[in-house]
Amino acid sequence: MELCLICIGDELLKGATVNTNMAFIGECLLGIGVIPKYSLVVPDTRQPILAALDHAFANADVVITTGGLGPTADDITKEVVAEKFGRRLNENGEIAVSLQHYWNSLKRGPMPSRLLNQSLVPDGADVMKNSCGTAPGLHLSGDPLKNGSVKHIILLPGPPAEMRPMFKEQGIPLIQSLVKKPLHAELLHVVGLGESVIEDRMIPVIAGHPNLSVAYCASPEYVRVFLTSPDQEFLHHKTREVMDLFKGELFLPGCKSFAEELLTLLKRKKSKLAVAESCTGGIIAQRMTDIPGSSSVFNGGVVAYANEVKTAVLGVSGELLEEYGAVSAECAAAMVEGVCAKLNADAGIAVTGIAGPDGGSVHKPVGLVYAAVRFNGQTIVRDFHHRGGREQIRHRAASSAMNLLRRLMLGLETP
Ligand code: AMP
Ligand code: MG
Repeated sequence: MELCLICIGDELLKGATVNTNMAFIGECLLGIGVIPKYSLVVPDTRQPILAALDHAFANADVVITTGGLGPTADDITKEVVAEKFGRRLNENGEIAVSLQHYWNSLKRGPMPSRLLNQSLVPDGADVMKNSCGTAPGLHLSGDPLKNGSVKHIILLPGPPAEMRPMFKEQGIPLIQSLVKKPLHAELLHVVGLGESVIEDRMIPVIAGHPNLSVAYCASPEYVRVFLTSPDQEFLHHKTREVMDLFKGELFLPGCKSFAEELLTLLKRKKSKLAVAESCTGGIIAQRMTDIPGSSSVFNGGVVAYANEVKTAVLGVSGELLEEYGAVSAECAAAMVEGVCAKLNADAGIAVTGIAGPDGGSVHKPVGLVYAAVRFNGQTIVRDFHHRGGREQIRHRAASSAMNLLRRLMLGLETP
């Protein structure tokens, strides 16, 4: 079964709204072994919507649309879809009553007649209840291309808060009932290696298997490797083989970020973490505190940007800074030891580097970052050479430093 997605809304094309519906729907579909053939983004305009429907129905059995179900005149998705299927719109009494109830509860006087547009349903459509808003979703099947082939369309509202629960609770079970041969998917998070290194290492395991497809998605924290196959047992076997290639470079089961992994390891070892951040400016502390429950292992952090702070708060000596500079292995080590002592922690991370765009030199170019980590009375320091703009360098610096502590705690690094 093939599936296409059409995201409808002027705001998507103007860049006023990020198309998060595509990402959410794609992720949910992957969970049931369906990967959309493609996705189109079109404005709230009849002709482009009709063209997108023609294209999608020519290529897929199921089409999902998001957006354009609101009560205002600019939202026309339902009308255009009804036209394509040759159906009339009729008022649905149940929806009309619930709209009236909703309006009355707001106590804003008489209901605008426009709102009732949302109770119009094409002949033969199934209604999907909207538990978080007023626009119902719809499921319609028929022969829109008039060539004898049955197609399905699922219309979802645009606002993510309404679309997400509706799609998860009603759309996904519906699609599952239509899928005859689902794909099976596995997702691995590989850390500390680039995409091309990962692919090179995987080639002996994955090459020459047409029923196995592999996709890579790189981010500053990790590379996600998606493995998909219609054969579940074969996929399982191949996934194990791939996992064996990346021992020490995969998150622990259940962890999807460095912060989650560190939280798990610190809890396991009954350790407390403190961080001293210069060029990352608090990114590591933010990532740790983003996770509920991190207070049980994270004592705190110091953003030691200026040399005076490195000295006054972390105890990095003026002579050390004079001799080696703030961006140095020696400074990173002194920072991590200082912050662990100051914040009463037995595990620590310190980062100092040149995030750019200015401040680089021949010996210390932009992207040079020293990370020092401490655990079990041992301090180790490594230098990293990150590429990219300031933002990328800072996030990559945070990731490589967190990975270094993770590796030390797992016994994968020695001083
Ligand atoms: P609608 O009235 O159904 O067209 O939905 C409009 C609202 O949903 C606006 O707030 C949009 O910014 C939001 N929206 C529409 N499409 C998307 C999308 N693909 N991703 C995220 N938000 C969206
Ligand atoms: Mg709209």
